Amino acid sequence: KLENATLKAELGRATWKFMHTMVARFPEEPSPEERKTLETFIYLFGRLYPCGDCAKHFRALLSKYPPQTSSRNAAAGWLCFMHNLVNERLKKPIFDCNNIGDFYDCGCGDEDKATKK
Ligand code: FAD
Repeated sequence: KLENATLKAELGRATWKFMHTMVARFPEEPSPEERKTLETFIYLFGRLYPCGDCAKHFRALLSKYPPQTSSRNAAAGWLCFMHNLVNERLKKPIFDCNNIGDFYDCGCGDEDKATKK
């Protein structure tokens, strides 16, 4: 089947939004299990992302820059950095990771609940 750049970009936008929102709610002080869960998720994501070329590039980046899971800040900063590497390759504007603070709000109204028992 032919490549459809519009659909590929739409999937990318939705995925980045989800990923950044997910790490914005990662615990500030994660347990070892929570850290492992995020790390596993990211590696599995790299295996399963439906755009094969994108996934392959992402896996290459992962082997150079393994996921940072020690805190919410570390995880959000790492993902922002990874997204910027993709932006760079695609010749897109670089995002200022210092401004990531409240940019990704899940709108769930249950601050932090998703990551607690
Ligand atoms: P996107 O890059 O989708 O970003 C959406 C919004 O996020 C931006 O408008 C901005 O507000 C914000 N943002 C931008 N940079 C950052 C950042 N660093 N941190 C936080 N927020 C930010 N497409 C390809 O054509 N080839 C590829 O190889 C490819 N690889 C990809 C790999 C992955 C893992 C993913 C998730 C997507 C990939 N894509 C790839 C899609 C591509 O990254 C874009 O999602 C798509 O081109 C749409 O771009 P966009 O300009 O709408 O902005």
